[in-house]
Amino acid sequence: MANVTEKKLNDFMAKVIAKNPSEIEFHQAVHEVVSSLLPYIEEHPQYSEAKILERMVEPERTILFRVPWLDDKGEVQINKGFRIEMNSAIGPYKGGLRFHPTVNLGILKFLAFEQVLKNSLTTLPMGGGKGGTDFDPKGKSDNEVMRFCQSFMSELFRHIGPNTDVPAGDIGVGGREIGFLFGQYKRLRNEFTGVLTGKGIEWGGSLIRPEATGYGATYFAEEMLKTRGQSFKGKIVAISGSGNVAQYATEKVTQLGGKVVTLSDSSGYIYDPNGIDAVKLAWIMQLKNVKRGRIAEYVAKFGGSFVEGERPWGVKCDVAMPCATQNEINEDEAKLLIKNGCFVVSEGANMPSTPEAVDVYINSKILYGPGKAANAGGVATSGLEMSQNSLRLSWTREEVDARLHQIMVDIHNTCVKYGTQPDGFINYVNGANIGGFVKVADAMLAQGLV
Ligand code: NDP
Repeated sequence: MANVTEKKLNDFMAKVIAKNPSEIEFHQAVHEVVSSLLPYIEEHPQYSEAKILERMVEPERTILFRVPWLDDKGEVQINKGFRIEMNSAIGPYKGGLRFHPTVNLGILKFLAFEQVLKNSLTTLPMGGGKGGTDFDPKGKSDNEVMRFCQSFMSELFRHIGPNTDVPAGDIGVGGREIGFLFGQYKRLRNEFTGVLTGKGIEWGGSLIRPEATGYGATYFAEEMLKTRGQSFKGKIVAISGSGNVAQYATEKVTQLGGKVVTLSDSSGYIYDPNGIDAVKLAWIMQLKNVKRGRIAEYVAKFGGSFVEGERPWGVKCDVAMPCATQNEINEDEAKLLIKNGCFVVSEGANMPSTPEAVDVYINSKILYGPGKAANAGGVATSGLEMSQNSLRLSWTREEVDARLHQIMVDIHNTCVKYGTQPDGFINYVNGANIGGFVKVADAMLAQGLV
């Protein structure tokens, strides 16, 4: 990056940091995006004259609220509730709700900011938002989770709606939580409408929505592999997490002929050199989604090893798919992956690689698909759920999967269009950031100073 651009980046970041102190994940996400965008914006001064970037880093609206609820002992508990309505230039705010004790404003603002560009990349008319709470569903009874969700929605309902803001799931929010949230929204508004996505199939949900993020990240990796004349056949794949995204990434990789050898949770990772096949995965889904147990239990059932307190990036693999949380691959782990032969990283999670890890991938010229491109299949299929709700129709599994697959191919093509360097290397970070930016920025220009 030329010196003058470097100075502009530093000046821009100094202002973002001063206005949003302590929000380190937000600073990290903005820094990455603005580094990609500044050279492009210098060639297109209409964006800097209208201060599009300065406007994009300021949420249109931030809602903070109290969530009081009663636990099973009859004791009062209080959590924080958040909804960041980041950008509605190209459609209603859209983005998940995260229930996790680490949730804070900075984490949700990073996620909402990324979401704006990601949603734009899907080609569907969705703005960006994100929300959540520091409530931890782990170890809570179903009744406690229900009472919490009802209290959370008792405030959130007045800010959202099918044409305003349509939340979905994220970490800690799966089908159970979406059901409780939807039930309370319906009761308060007295209307049955597509205000949340990830709904059950019998009450407005879309086939393939649960699978979409994991399948999409795998389709994206497949497209990256094709650029080097390769496929998943015979590839060894390391996956982290064992929740929604990790489970369906494992399923699709296995269907495409790859061998998944690791999964993890916040306690550590399992390594199974024989591969986590369909039978083993079905058992994991029961363990995680119904029994709500720990991944370590896998070893007693199927063998392999459990490594406590570690992440799986020291294992030999061709493809890595981080599917747990932000900043879960650091510089040393990125170097280790590459040393062990890994040449594809497809991010199911949001911002799972630290900036230093990203530099390692780019300098090593491996195939690196950042989350906002690789995991966009989830929100894309949420967009398809919204379309079906509006049409009052349900598409078949095959139809939704075909649309998801095509969207992932299109996102890949957008990254190639905007990210291919003169030497032929595809910088997917630049490609995704610029490709996602242009549509939102042009809509903002067209809509005047709002
Ligand atoms: P789940 O809650 O279903 O699963 C999360 C998994 O990650 C669990 O195995 C969890 O382990 C692990 N995990 C969570 N936090 C941490 C942490 N701080 N350290 C170590 N492990 C952790 O969430 P999802 O699968 O839905 O989401 C995973 C990632 O994918 C997130 O980054 C999310 O933002 C992203 N994503 C999800 C989409 C979706 O459609 N669901 C769409 C796009 C992106 P444990 O159970 O021990 O906490």
